[in-house]
Amino acid sequence: MRIGVIDGRLAVVRGDVAVDVEVASDGRFGADPIAVFERWRSFVDWASGIDVDGFALQPSKLQNPVPGPRQVFGVGANYLSHIEEAGAKVPSAPLIFTKYPTCLTGPRDDVPLPSQTVDWEVELVAVIGIRAERVSEGAAWAHVAGLTVGQDITERVIQFSGPAPQFCMGKSFRGFGPLGPLLVTPDEFSDPGDIALGCAVDGQTMQDGRTSDLIFSVPELIARLSAVCPLLPGDVIFTGTPAGVGMFRTPGVFLTPGQTLTSWVEGIGELRNRMIAGPDYPAATVAAGTTTPEEH
Ligand code: ZN
Repeated sequence: MRIGVIDGRLAVVRGDVAVDVEVASDGRFGADPIAVFERWRSFVDWASGIDVDGFALQPSKLQNPVPGPRQVFGVGANYLSHIEEAGAKVPSAPLIFTKYPTCLTGPRDDVPLPSQTVDWEVELVAVIGIRAERVSEGAAWAHVAGLTVGQDITERVIQFSGPAPQFCMGKSFRGFGPLGPLLVTPDEFSDPGDIALGCAVDGQTMQDGRTSDLIFSVPELIARLSAVCPLLPGDVIFTGTPAGVGMFRTPGVFLTPGQTLTSWVEGIGELRNRMIAGPDYPAATVAAGTTTPEEH
């Protein structure tokens, strides 16, 4: 099953047709995209039996499918290929941080750049459907509502400034967490542990990986996180990024105003976010950057 949010309302999507959940269920399930996770099992039972009599889906109208989760987890250094490009050692435990939920945004929204050192990180994102507390790896997938595409956009200078790296700050500027375009249930994937993902800047591929390269898999992350704190319905887990970020290129490559960042995960779809100059972006560079947006 594939679900999305259109005009702020929860919808089931089949092919190019969308069904408004509140209307089709006669109010049994509401339009609130986050409240549905509290009743995930009965929602899935109902949604799998509905007919597809809906309205034509306009992909450009799809919004963030998981707006306002209570907890957002991120995982750093979680792909072997990314560890290699960083010249780092394979971690023995996952590097966990949060992206503050106010950074989340939609699959087609503009991203304001605060500086000239903003980088991309395409990620598979898992969304919790059933409260998970001290669950085993074997039971973990049953607690996942679905998977979506995420961009863990990162300001690299702030990430590494301060007495110790502070991933939460560098990764939480407004607009730094595009999600979407749909939430897809795990049963839609032939192998949810081996999914292709990648991203491109103005059409030039920057990342091209597979989730089978993850050091800590989705079930292992859920087991380790839920051993510490309960994972709540609607919680979001950014699972890490494969090789190809801008920071580890020589010289480093970073996003500039006017560029379009496209991020995809096989079987889900793609995010398409345009970079714009934020209020603190250096003025001289804004002038240079704004000469090109029309080309994109
Ligand atoms: Zn990341």
